[in-house]
Amino acid sequence: VELPIHDAVLGHAADFGDLPALIDGTDGTTLTYEQVDRFHRRVAAALAEAGVRKGDVLALHSPNTVAFPIAFYAATRAGASVTTVHPLATAEEFAKQLKDSAARWIVTVSPLLEAARRAAELAGGVEEVFVCDGAPGHRSLADMLTSAAPEPAVDVDPAEDVAVLPYSSGTTGIPKGVMLTHRQIATNLAQLEPAITTGPGDRILAVLPFFHIYGLTALMNAPLRKGATVVVLPRFELETFLAAVQDHRITGLYVAPPIVLALAKHPAVARYDLSSLKYIISAAAPLDAELAAACSRRLGLPPVGQAYGMTELSPGTHVVPPDAMHVAPPGTVGRLIAGTEMRIVSLADPGQDLGVGEPGEILIRGPQVMKGYLGRPDATAAMIDADGWLHTGDVGHVDGDGWLFVVDRVKELIKYKGFQVAPAELEALLLTHPGIADAAVIGAYNDDGNEVPHAFVVRQPDADGLSEGEVMMYVAERVAPYKRVRQVTFLGAVPRAASGKILRRELRDLREKQQREPKEQP
Ligand code: ATP
Ligand code: MG
Repeated sequence: VELPIHDAVLGHAADFGDLPALIDGTDGTTLTYEQVDRFHRRVAAALAEAGVRKGDVLALHSPNTVAFPIAFYAATRAGASVTTVHPLATAEEFAKQLKDSAARWIVTVSPLLEAARRAAELAGGVEEVFVCDGAPGHRSLADMLTSAAPEPAVDVDPAEDVAVLPYSSGTTGIPKGVMLTHRQIATNLAQLEPAITTGPGDRILAVLPFFHIYGLTALMNAPLRKGATVVVLPRFELETFLAAVQDHRITGLYVAPPIVLALAKHPAVARYDLSSLKYIISAAAPLDAELAAACSRRLGLPPVGQAYGMTELSPGTHVVPPDAMHVAPPGTVGRLIAGTEMRIVSLADPGQDLGVGEPGEILIRGPQVMKGYLGRPDATAAMIDADGWLHTGDVGHVDGDGWLFVVDRVKELIKYKGFQVAPAELEALLLTHPGIADAAVIGAYNDDGNEVPHAFVVRQPDADGLSEGEVMMYVAERVAPYKRVRQVTFLGAVPRAASGKILRRELRDLREKQQREPKEQP
């Protein structure tokens, strides 16, 4: 049977009854499954009473809180499409998203209310701003719980109606609104099901944001569907995160590579009891096999598993199944999930399919491929070809057993004198240096007009003396000459998106700025 997303996820909520569904990792506020079920229905009724209609777009603008899922499922039950907004978006960025998505409603939290109001003013067309935790002059979710309005009887068409309208991370260009139907999201949850071990008794830490499709799926929809407990944190701060794992006896983590890096390398990790952890899954950006191994060794855990996907794929296509964690080859992002097809095609000639071990662009076809980019038929057509294949823009190869390895994005490959260099490979190598805490690599043009690898390096606290020359030498001793890092900049932190992706655009800007003022090193 085809269910809308709120029923696909919360269909069993009543059965899980008194089990804790959501715990606020900051203040301990707990919602049981019975409460999540009842509360989201009441809020749906109140939203409908306030005027939310089928097809309306509601902007959900909030860090991770226990109210986030309530607002989300209430909105979809009322028939709205939810566009999730980065809580740190500026009023201008938020306004752009409101305008682009033609949002009519906003749900925000009181600390972000000013930005939300300004955005609504700039964009126009917003009927009402609701505030989860309340603010004078605004209806709150708590007010809505007492609504006596009847539950809305909205006729959702899972195949056509858009449940979620996330904006892509904007790593490679302007963020685009990705239309994901109820069917696409629910189907992908079902496809991922065999690889998701979570269930009652499992405690998941939601530190990656719910507003991004990875967090929405792995930290909200999937665990709530299965009766697990989700402990929410509003942002990543290492010590708070470690304390939450320890104090809430977290069993499973879905993270991005920077957190794996911290777990593998940061001295603070040793001060916490993380023995409750049973597994760690990483996705959203390339994770090096060595780093993953260092993390699992340090914590005494099974190998860190990976998953692969993108917003346009609702989002998952590959995952390392739990029963295969020990046999999966190091560095793989997983095996293709059921009901999905993949091709690897030549970068030079997209008509040509490649064989085992040959890297090329990853193409995907399946029921989880997005409906399209909102209002951008040209961008949609550029992404999904006439035969339904979505061109991921990622380079990968498969081994003889079907394990996929992601090399990097096509656009990020550095072309040095006809050779291709993947930044991810150099970043992984740099991280093996004991004096390097974090690293990012971009392609940059040198004075001879060649594109060369430029490394941005964060020194370990005890490695002040590490020099540019030493960094370049370390790489040169370990790679073919064409892959050598030829420029190095030290910096305090690598800029990253909320989903953990390196913001290479910012590094390019930084480099340009430095070339204009070459004396000022940060
Ligand atoms: P935009 O499309 O706006 O430029 P984005 O591609 O970063 O932004 P997302 O949809 O959040 O937006 O990210 C999907 C991308 O993340 C994939 O195309 C891939 O490059 C990367 N990715 C996801 N999982 C992995 C993984 N396990 N290993 C390597 N890369 C990954
Ligand atoms: Mg993308």
